[in-house]
Amino acid sequence: MSKKLQGNLNLNTIQLKKGELLTEVEELCGENLFGCYQCGTCSAGCPFVDEMDLSPDEVIRYIILDRKEVLNSKTIWLCSSCFTCAERCPRDINITKIMEALRQIILRKKIDRTNIKNITKDEKETIPQMAFVSLFRKNVG
Ligand code: SF4
Ligand code: SF4
Repeated sequence: MSKKLQGNLNLNTIQLKKGELLTEVEELCGENLFGCYQCGTCSAGCPFVDEMDLSPDEVIRYIILDRKEVLNSKTIWLCSSCFTCAERCPRDINITKIMEALRQIILRKKIDRTNIKNITKDEKETIPQMAFVSLFRKNVG
């Protein structure tokens, strides 16, 4: 059964042809996704898995199956690039880089995850500057 993913991206704006998702991800990250044997070790160690709408191993499965709705997953934005999954994967697959590749597919279409204009005056005054720098690096193309 298909999951209800929590993003609101219009997938038509991404314009990937049938079967292109895997190729594009592999080109961007340099990983061989077919090496994954779906053991789930990556997901078991991910500190944010409980908040994700797709677990890291599911993200890989979606890409292999050319299920572009993975681009509408909250998971790719929740990933903190902590590299725990990449360190633990028995097949040496760097899932952190795969998550980054998925974000890049969106950001390179000039679709920002965070609208800078929506940051309130109060947030600007209370949130540490470093947090904004990290946010912009990850969420703005
Ligand atoms: S730990 Fe590696 S082999 Fe196991 S599911 Fe995750 S990516 Fe696949
Ligand atoms: S890099 Fe991302 S997916 Fe991997 S364990 Fe950390 S938060 Fe989870």
